[in-house]
Amino acid sequence: MAPDPLTLPAIHASHIGIWIADTHGRVQRVGRGEAIAAVAATPHLLLNATLTGDRLGYPELSGLDLLELFAFLYPARFAVPTPAGIASAIGLTPPTGEEEIAAFLPNAAAAMLASTNDSTWPEREGAWHGVQALVRQRWSWSPLIQPRLSVPDANERWLFARLPEWEEQPPRGAPRQVTINEDDVSARLDRLTGDGAERRPGQQDYARATASIFAPRDRKDAPQMLVAEAGTGIGKTLGYLAPAKQWIDQSAGSICISTYTKALQRQLSRETEKLYPDAATHREKVVVRKGRENYLCLLNLEDALQGGFSGRAAILAQLVARWAAYTRDGDMVGGDLPGWLPALFRRNGTTALTDRRGECIYAGCPHFRKCFIEHSARAATQADIVIANHALTMVQAARPRDGGAPATRLIFDEGHHLWDAADSMFAAALTGQEAVEIRRWVLGPEGKSRGRRRGLAARLADVASYDEAGDRAIQAAITAAAELPGDGWLSRLSENDPWGAIERLLVAVRGQVYARAVDTRTADAGYGLETELADPDSDLVAAAASASDAVEALLRPLMALGKRLEALIDDPPDWLDGQARARVDGARHSLGTRIDTLGGWLSLLGRVGGPADPDFVDWLAVDRYDGREFDTGLHRHWLDPAKPIADVVYRPAQGVLVTSATLRNGGHGSGGWTDADIRTGARHMDSGVRHFAVPSPFDYARQSEVLIVTDIARGDLPALAGAYSRLIEASGGGALGLFSAIRRLRIVHSRIADRLARAGLPLYAQHVDPLDTGTLVDIFRADPHASLLGTDALRDGVDVPGDSLRLVVMEGVPWPRPTILHAARRAAQGGSAYDDMVIRGRIGQAFGRLIRRADDFGQFVMLSPSFPSRLLSAFPEGTPIRRLPLDEAVNHVAAANVERRKTAFPAFSPS
Ligand code: SF4
Repeated sequence: MAPDPLTLPAIHASHIGIWIADTHGRVQRVGRGEAIAAVAATPHLLLNATLTGDRLGYPELSGLDLLELFAFLYPARFAVPTPAGIASAIGLTPPTGEEEIAAFLPNAAAAMLASTNDSTWPEREGAWHGVQALVRQRWSWSPLIQPRLSVPDANERWLFARLPEWEEQPPRGAPRQVTINEDDVSARLDRLTGDGAERRPGQQDYARATASIFAPRDRKDAPQMLVAEAGTGIGKTLGYLAPAKQWIDQSAGSICISTYTKALQRQLSRETEKLYPDAATHREKVVVRKGRENYLCLLNLEDALQGGFSGRAAILAQLVARWAAYTRDGDMVGGDLPGWLPALFRRNGTTALTDRRGECIYAGCPHFRKCFIEHSARAATQADIVIANHALTMVQAARPRDGGAPATRLIFDEGHHLWDAADSMFAAALTGQEAVEIRRWVLGPEGKSRGRRRGLAARLADVASYDEAGDRAIQAAITAAAELPGDGWLSRLSENDPWGAIERLLVAVRGQVYARAVDTRTADAGYGLETELADPDSDLVAAAASASDAVEALLRPLMALGKRLEALIDDPPDWLDGQARARVDGARHSLGTRIDTLGGWLSLLGRVGGPADPDFVDWLAVDRYDGREFDTGLHRHWLDPAKPIADVVYRPAQGVLVTSATLRNGGHGSGGWTDADIRTGARHMDSGVRHFAVPSPFDYARQSEVLIVTDIARGDLPALAGAYSRLIEASGGGALGLFSAIRRLRIVHSRIADRLARAGLPLYAQHVDPLDTGTLVDIFRADPHASLLGTDALRDGVDVPGDSLRLVVMEGVPWPRPTILHAARRAAQGGSAYDDMVIRGRIGQAFGRLIRRADDFGQFVMLSPSFPSRLLSAFPEGTPIRRLPLDEAVNHVAAANVERRKTAFPAFSPS
């Protein structure tokens, strides 16, 4: 029997209207003013207060949010944060129209609250304690939950008691040198794909080719290396997992698979379940790793629960504590914490719950043995397969941590992104924000800062009390760090009232940027300003010299401290037990990161007034958002960031596979591999790098078409918005709209969202809707009538097979932004040929979103009156390409939509 609906009013607001259900369930359509008056007078049930407040134009909106209730009752469970998504998660029939939603909410709330009476409710443990704390925070749901929960028995474990502890394990040995047999690889692939499975053309060839990276290498610094393109639909993942598992079984070695997007990390984790079908074995043998800033820090959570957070942030902390007790791995960003939860609290507090600033106190932390980050790091040393991201793989190659033999075989999936990942990873920046971070890391909290974050002295108190030289180094570092920018530095800069040598440097940088940079007055006006680091004026040269002294004054004691810590590890005194050793070891590694940063600053400062280094591009920048400055400083990037990948990552490995569906993108030279070798860094390897390519099995001539719309002028925003609206209507939704500028995206969204909503076609947008990108993609995937507008992150990370994505519309040719860095690379790598390589890569990625399965059909629309013919090679061979006016393009899209609706399989024959 369904539980009685709650006798509370409910509100639903969308782009087309506002509905209120009264306490008897009677629904009425109301105006904005009436709705605001009602919700201000009485708390209403609603779903997603942030989004509803946005639609009402009433950002202060609060009420009884069903998403918060869901997060409390079902921590770490997945739900799309829409009425249909919640209905599906809790087993109710979803509302069929917008006007039914307000009446649905009381039923959904009652059904959820009924879980508290269900003896099989899996997340009961901890709920009673949680709600007691939430009563004190005056959480709106607590009066409804508290009476429904009975006091648990005295043995109930609360959060910190519930979490498992990790055990020390002996280090994993080096792998045996073995050569795997190709026939064994083929047989294993057959087993993995299953007896009844359709054999995918090319997958066996790909698996045998990738097996070559597991052969023993012939000489030092010359890994067995393969750069392999596997067209979409080949089954690339199992194609490389088959030889990888064969090698793991024969050699007892471990491998690292590196990806660029979190979506692929998740997908890989699922695919590896086929290698280890037993869930417990899978958990032990396959570990997903991310940067530490992704994980919940239990010490920060404890601070937050014990008064470090107040108001809404304190409620968020309680909901995160509920989740922490049930999470798989503590990953707050892209893991099982709902991506929409932080957005409900306007991101207030979530970053303070992770270890963003590297203030971890390691074994000094009371939760060290339960810490999610430590769990993940230790599990990775024992796992057969570590699934990491490119940035982390590069960091670990550059600064390996102890813990057994590192993976000798590296597989870089999404290899087309190695360049971008390396570009950020190997860059240096001496900016105000960066300097503030280092100051905090050394000094700890100052003034009225919240929390129990600790500075260097507190983190290494035992070292200081037992080791005189270590203590002297810590004190000298503290004195030197006081010269770095602290709170209020941005306003002191704008008032020309700097404190300390680094702020004086930033004033000089800012002055030079404003004197020389060109404010483009284009779509990007009000954002970044930059100028080359060339012919600096005398103020800047003098400020850089003083700043160098200040940086050296900090670097010297940190290096001395690093040496002392190493000496303690090498020749441990009596007091250095296992816990203290782990703490010293942790401090040594985080010290190493800061020493590298400061070293990078010194080379950058040495460049001011000195000779340029041809390997690097250096510039000065003032970063702004909507005209407001938020950072200032000097920047250095590698001219070719693939060079350090080859030196630091590839050479030390024994075997390397770089693979992707789009490595060549119609590139030129040597079978199209020249561009791929540039972007992946393969050209810097002096030993023979092998290449392999297998085309997609998809029939692009039948499954897709490209429509280049020739009558929408670049910069004509009303025409651009009209084109998007007509195309989305013609396709009945299912469209992904890609933009190169946030401003244009917002304008187009504001012009068309209401009109589309009236046609039953919801439109969501990055940078507009208060939801994270992952949640927007989940909503888009779940509703075939929905469309989504976004920028770069959507071009690269969306995997929506099937009917939900059938149209991609690009607002124009995605020309690279004319930055100083881009100009330098363009000049170094063949002028417009470099631009073409970048653009083909972007278009290839965007097109790649469309066809993910053999039964997908999709259309790609490029709004460009003069699309260069030389870029057409970015599309897969055989794809029909038409240049036509908008009216005809709309007819094509509408015709495909009619076909789609007529048949389950869209056997569309273009007119
Ligand atoms: S060990 Fe470090 S990251 Fe882990 S909970 Fe403690 S302080 Fe946080």
